[in-house]
Amino acid sequence: MTELRVGLVIEDDHDIRELVRVVLSQAGFEVHMATSGAAGIRAARDLNPHVITLDLGLPDIDGFEVARQVRNFSDAYIVMLTAKADELDTLLGLESGADDYLTKPFRPRELRARVAAMMRRPRSRPATGYVASSSQRTFRHNGLVFSYATRTVSIDGQDVRLTPTEFDLLHCLLEAGRTVLSKADLVRRLRNEPYDVGTYTSDADERSVEVHIGNLRRKLGDDAQNPRWLQTVRGVGYRLAPAKT
Ligand code: CA
Repeated sequence: MTELRVGLVIEDDHDIRELVRVVLSQAGFEVHMATSGAAGIRAARDLNPHVITLDLGLPDIDGFEVARQVRNFSDAYIVMLTAKADELDTLLGLESGADDYLTKPFRPRELRARVAAMMRRPRSRPATGYVASSSQRTFRHNGLVFSYATRTVSIDGQDVRLTPTEFDLLHCLLEAGRTVLSKADLVRRLRNEPYDVGTYTSDADERSVEVHIGNLRRKLGDDAQNPRWLQTVRGVGYRLAPAKT
């Protein structure tokens, strides 16, 4: 049996709400809708959705604040829908905890593609008492323990809560080790494409990766100047910092 996937649309514009509802329904989601930020946060808490589409301009509280509050309890994939191609809004959205964004107006197939790419990235909720076996892709590096099976990360024994995108980026870097990954590599990886196919990535995509890496660093408490985990290779990309003995 496959788990029923729940989608939540937080949007005050009727037409866009309908468009998103149809796209998510066709993708196999049970779709719920909220027309204000406060109702959206309540619904996210009650329904524990897999995917949330979040309008930036809501009548009560803005989408940035909604994302920040939802992130306190949810690991849903959050796609922010921004009304203008304003880069600042986009980056602020990602800083507030969204995984991805789409600029309105967008075509249904663009949203379908984003949702499909997100759903290929696994999200697991381990049952209580679940113990990952050591063979299931566990990484240990400089006090950080990363378990792919349980989707958990801890540092010196303290759990660190990451968004799905931050988790996936950390996974890529741990897997690659000392091999440098370019921002374009990481963009492709988040889209679930192979590193080396050379598909187009935009400057905006690459800046999104920078923002997500910045968020990840902050949550890990890592220092960009003297990194324990995430090393910036100037003009190229990122790689894992050397193991400290
Ligand atoms: Ca709106």
